[in-house]
Amino acid sequence: MKKVLIIEDEISIADLEKDYLELSGFEVAIETTGDAGLERALKEDFNIIVLDLMLPGIDGFEVCSKIREKKDIPIIMVSAKKEDIDKIRGLGLGADDYMTKPFSPSELVARVKAHLARFERLINSSQKPENDIIEIRGIKIDKTARRVYVDGEEKAFTTKEFDLLTFLAQNPNHVFTKEELFREIWDMDSFGDIATVTVHIKKIREKIEIDNSKPQYIETIWGVGYRFRV
Ligand code: CA
Repeated sequence: MKKVLIIEDEISIADLEKDYLELSGFEVAIETTGDAGLERALKEDFNIIVLDLMLPGIDGFEVCSKIREKKDIPIIMVSAKKEDIDKIRGLGLGADDYMTKPFSPSELVARVKAHLARFERLINSSQKPENDIIEIRGIKIDKTARRVYVDGEEKAFTTKEFDLLTFLAQNPNHVFTKEELFREIWDMDSFGDIATVTVHIKKIREKIEIDNSKPQYIETIWGVGYRFRV
């Protein structure tokens, strides 16, 4: 269950916000002073904080910047005065959103949900493992996405063309015979013969080489086979 901390000194407002958030499935805690709110925000793991600006003790400005020093969770700041919103923005405290009182509790719920979803997307995208990429001069092979870029432009490759290019690029400067490449890329039962390799090399070159007669990447070693030059 996602946890929300409301830091708000007007109990009736805090309770109303709590009711709406709980109805939407959130677990809600309330603190009514800046000091208590800050302490709790730092001590416990909340998913989002709804922070009032005018509070007894330290105010919302300070609470916000102190939380920001330690935690990266979304903070929605609320204030009764529209001018305060401009001030919050101007101070660059790192609040994620601002709401002016009075607002409808359902709007608060919608914003809380939106910020949590956005935050989750951010977390997920930063934790995603990086794609496995081979880069050799102007060629970029994204092994994870199975895409090939030549000087930044994506080129369409068939499965076998992609496998063959990737295999050669992964073993640069190594000369492979056509037989070796055929065994490596095509399974034993597949139809075709080493001429298939020649045909595929030609197709790959058409996509990656500027001049097929003077290949910069896949070189023909006469009488032997091919190698990917680095
Ligand atoms: Ca207040």
